[in-house]
Amino acid sequence: MTITNARILTFDSDNRVLDSGSVEIRPDGSIGDVNSARARGKNVIDAKGKLLMPALINCHTHLYSTLARGISLPGRAPKNFPEILNKLWWRLDRALNEEDVYYSALVGLIDAAKCGVGTLVDHHSSPNACAGSLDRIEQAFRDVGLRGILCYETSDRNGPMQALEGIRENIRFIDRAQRAPRGDGLVAATFGLHASFTLTDETLRRAVEVNQSLRAGFHIHVAEDGCDAGAVKRLRDLGVLDEQCLAAHCVHVTAADIGTLARRRVNVVHNPQSNCNNAVGAARLLELVRRGVLVGLGSDGYSPRMFEEFKTAFHLQKLLAGDPRVAYGEAYAAAFLNNRTIVKKLWGMEIGRIEKGAQADLILVDYYPPTPLDSGNLFGHILFGIANAPVDSLIVNGCCVLRDKQCVTVDERRVAEKAAGRARALWERF
Ligand SMILES: [Zn+2]
Repeated sequence: MTITNARILTFDSDNRVLDSGSVEIRPDGSIGDVNSARARGKNVIDAKGKLLMPALINCHTHLYSTLARGISLPGRAPKNFPEILNKLWWRLDRALNEEDVYYSALVGLIDAAKCGVGTLVDHHSSPNACAGSLDRIEQAFRDVGLRGILCYETSDRNGPMQALEGIRENIRFIDRAQRAPRGDGLVAATFGLHASFTLTDETLRRAVEVNQSLRAGFHIHVAEDGCDAGAVKRLRDLGVLDEQCLAAHCVHVTAADIGTLARRRVNVVHNPQSNCNNAVGAARLLELVRRGVLVGLGSDGYSPRMFEEFKTAFHLQKLLAGDPRVAYGEAYAAAFLNNRTIVKKLWGMEIGRIEKGAQADLILVDYYPPTPLDSGNLFGHILFGIANAPVDSLIVNGCCVLRDKQCVTVDERRVAEKAAGRARALWERF
């Protein structure tokens, strides 16, 4: 298949902008020739001048949170982060059953596809439907046709038996993902841990020990709120932090902690909209980057639209610094360069660029630049134009997931109806 007559943003090492060009997609799902010629013949899709760029990546999300949309909490509103966890998320995840897990993931993935997100790094929790839950999420990824890096959030908050169950689910799924036929390429695994403040030394030591042979990265919340301050030092001492580790948030970190994250080459994921919503504070993106920490961008389940996260990251850092000149490079790198680096470190998958040999994860956007567009002024076009434009098509692994703004792999309306029924019952059990 070849996509032609597209305005191409390559995000390759030369960061080229081709005003009109073609991208070949090979049968194995990788990108072939990329050039400025017009292709003709069979298996050619005319993009009609739409913008073609790499599909987006969400480096930290919770698909299990999808069915909470519109839920009302009994009693007074939670006044801080621990109360938000206790009154909302830790009640919701305990109420989930196996089918809820599947439909919650399905809805979240359809939303992601419609926002041009082709790869999601998910952090799952369903304490009363733990064993096998990651298989249900994997099924949802395969049904929609997106890529995912999955894990189960091990925690002692429901007692030591459920912590053990969480560890077992991670081991089982990592083992399975590592045995998947080569070239399968849709689903991979990390080892999920909730957060330092809900994990005992014993559980953390056990997780580190069993992961020695699995060699999967840990995916964990780190210092999201003041209640988890000190997490970096503790996790370092227990052997959790290394270059495969994905540390979500890192809001409440000291200068010494940032040094540790940089030296251990930990992958930090900034989730600006969630941090705003929970009023936990803002990660010091500029300082993290200046000190050499690789920082990517996630949604923490707050929004499927990574363009929104990019914009919020940018705005928040300017506000924090009180300086309108900052955060251009950092916010851009987090969303469009570092997320793909993180996926490559964790998975070895080459996505996030339009270049021969990379995987064909692409989006077509209804964006026709009304002002000159070149690689030098890409930032302004993304921020003020592309980020607000409708995503028309999504291709993942060379296969079409979204076309004419409609999901072609699953029946979106039917899924929504089934999910709404499940959500009603879930809310009653909540
Ligand atoms: Zn999270």
